[in-house]
Amino acid sequence: MRVFYQKGIRVQRNGRELILDPRSRQPHAVVSHAHMDHLAPGAYMTPETLDVMKVRMGQKAEGIALPYHQEVDVEGMKVSLSEAGHVFGSAMIRVDDLLFTGDFNPSGGPTCGTCEPQDCHTLVIESTYGEPRFAFPPKEDVLADLLSWMEDSLETGPVALGAYEFGKGQELVALANELDVPVLVPNKMARIAEVYREHGHPLRFIPYAQANEEKEGAYVLLAPSRAFKRPGSAEVQEVLERGGRTAFTSGWCAVYDFRRSHHLDAQFPLSDHGDIDDLMWFVDACNPREVYTCLGYDEELAKTIRVKLRTKAEPLGKRWF
Ligand SMILES: [Zn+2]
Repeated sequence: MRVFYQKGIRVQRNGRELILDPRSRQPHAVVSHAHMDHLAPGAYMTPETLDVMKVRMGQKAEGIALPYHQEVDVEGMKVSLSEAGHVFGSAMIRVDDLLFTGDFNPSGGPTCGTCEPQDCHTLVIESTYGEPRFAFPPKEDVLADLLSWMEDSLETGPVALGAYEFGKGQELVALANELDVPVLVPNKMARIAEVYREHGHPLRFIPYAQANEEKEGAYVLLAPSRAFKRPGSAEVQEVLERGGRTAFTSGWCAVYDFRRSHHLDAQFPLSDHGDIDDLMWFVDACNPREVYTCLGYDEELAKTIRVKLRTKAEPLGKRWF
């Protein structure tokens, strides 16, 4: 088996090829999840990812639904998907004795399951946080801290949180729903959250445009991060005028301080990815003969794997995009 990166992760065996997370529509492709840097139509993907893709790319963007733990033959190779713990519908991709993690998080999250290591010959692992300085507190602790900060803040006014339209946004809706206050979200985030509901996640939210008397009391507002830079969006301004507080949640908060640049009251290192300790634990537990790192700190992670685990490891390729 040969694996290399060229506009997607190409896996070749016996003169045949399939491609993982292609940059655009390709034959014989498999997609790990519905973040735009991994998503392309026409590929195998989980039914959840397929439904999110239709909201993000249009109803004509078709794909082939492959539920977790079902196996298909693609170009003579056995392909199956398993939970990646990153976002709703995210999958690790198994191709014969190769495992590609996609974006993953062993801790999982409020709107997805957790991922489990698998014995494999070749491991292709994401290295978004593949440097020693990226060590996060346990995810359940960060979620508890954020929830208690929201609860305190809501006693005196609304709360605005920065969030991507897919993944972190819906995760924060699920968390805010524990507080039983209205959760206001942008239109696109609401349309994607509807897909979660169709798949059994009982998220409660109100699109901005439909919110009215909900804004009179305490509420949680979700908005893209650019909406917090001054002058900020009208929705964030309204939160501030009502004496509200603002926060960001991201793994990057573990090392960067966004409070001054984005005028925030707080930030929380809440990540949908594993940190460096998760990455190293996962590699060790999969017991691979060879490892390829991709995305983010690929050189650094490969080196750490070689030194600490004494396992053959190298970056898959310098150019992801
Ligand atoms: Zn992702």
